[in-house]
Amino acid sequence: MNQQLQEHWATILKDIKKELVPTSYYAVKDSKIHAIHSNTITISVVSEFVRNKIMEAFMPVFLFAIKKEFPDIENIDFIVEETKEKNSIPNTDYKHSYERTSYLNNPESVESLPLNPRYIFENFIVGGNNQLAYAGCKSITSDLGKVYNPLFLYGGVGLGKTHLLQAIAHECNRSGNKNIVYITSEQFLNQVVHSIQVNTVDKFRDNIRRVDYLIIDDIQFLVGKERTQEELFHTFNALYDQKKQIAISSDRPQNELKGIQERLISRFSMGLTVDIYPPDYETRLAILRNKDKTEQYGLPDDVLDFIASQKFNNIRQLEGSLIRVASYSSMQNIENVTVEFAKETLKNFLPMSYKKFTPEEIKVIVADFYNTKPQMLESKRRSKDVTVPRQVAIYLIREMTNYSLPVIGRYFGGRDHSTIIHSYEKIKGEMKTDVKLKNEVEEIIKKLQYTS
Ligand code: ADP
Ligand code: MG
Repeated sequence: MNQQLQEHWATILKDIKKELVPTSYYAVKDSKIHAIHSNTITISVVSEFVRNKIMEAFMPVFLFAIKKEFPDIENIDFIVEETKEKNSIPNTDYKHSYERTSYLNNPESVESLPLNPRYIFENFIVGGNNQLAYAGCKSITSDLGKVYNPLFLYGGVGLGKTHLLQAIAHECNRSGNKNIVYITSEQFLNQVVHSIQVNTVDKFRDNIRRVDYLIIDDIQFLVGKERTQEELFHTFNALYDQKKQIAISSDRPQNELKGIQERLISRFSMGLTVDIYPPDYETRLAILRNKDKTEQYGLPDDVLDFIASQKFNNIRQLEGSLIRVASYSSMQNIENVTVEFAKETLKNFLPMSYKKFTPEEIKVIVADFYNTKPQMLESKRRSKDVTVPRQVAIYLIREMTNYSLPVIGRYFGGRDHSTIIHSYEKIKGEMKTDVKLKNEVEEIIKKLQYTS
């Protein structure tokens, strides 16, 4: 594993250590970084017990520490190092079963990944944000390959795509449809690559084309992977022609899957496309209530309400916050959990509430970040060392406050509204291609969060 990743990991562990009580840290300290792919980090842990412990109680701590080093990470996957597993305490009552199987053992056979037993339709809270996606996924469980083929589900990270896709697989399993394969596109790629290496491509093709139901999660991973796309294209056609059902998820709509061949994109668009967007307050509350009930946390209504009122647009983080409050209160034997306690426990995890910043505060933090002074941002100077910070400050004020363009102009030495809009658009546009700038802006946002 490369040196740099190891160094990042050491920093992450240090951060985690600060957040956990010593006994908890002791349990997780031997975790190692295994790999990073797009927005997923894979961590290897010494036992199933440790994995479940992290998933049930420490997920927010891990995610927070990891995001400090790798801001793009949204998912954590685990692999359990089996050699050590044998010496660990068996834990039979864990509820989650995320698992990376060693799927390269048998490259020709296409095996479904293990499903998370929790990811069923019954556990999925339907709200305005996911109603269509839910209905679409449900409908294809009854009439395989006939009504909507393929089903293309897209939406941001942590909004329930995997949950819904696995719910389809569960439902079909229940109704006796045996030949269902749920895989991630990364696994598909691994199988393609491996079958090329060991010269079993034909066998792999035969096998995958015998599947009745192919569900591929996170298709965006195949961006730029030409050879695998080629294989997927032929698989797709073969299954489609035999009226076999295909379902695909993606973190973005078809037309934004740049780097995926046009002909595949057009296949993806032939059936039903449904999207999920972030949940509103009512849906967030319903999700929290449901989780509180199934996990028997027994948190009071006002605490659930407080968490729901935070603008989480990632359900994994929403759930993570609930778990954090529940586990911290139980670790400290607190019976009456209050909103104050929740606020304190979550202070570094809540999505920021934009309105609380003033332009002055933003200017101070931005100036400080770029080693200049707030007065320089207001000045007429046009050298690069002040124009960039000035534009960033304007961008953030426009994003984070409700001030109008002319008013923002007044905070910058009376600049007119067209200058303000120009600065705003410039930073907004450049952040799409300029990773350094994007990181700087995110760094400043974090600083704002800490100081508020
Ligand atoms: P994605 O695949 O879109 O990144 P996941 O399916 O992994 O998201 O969902 C993240 C977490 O949020 C999972 O624990 C999932 O069970 C939960 N979740 C998402 N949407 C809902 C919902 N509508 N009702 C209940 N739980 C949900
Ligand atoms: Mg997913």
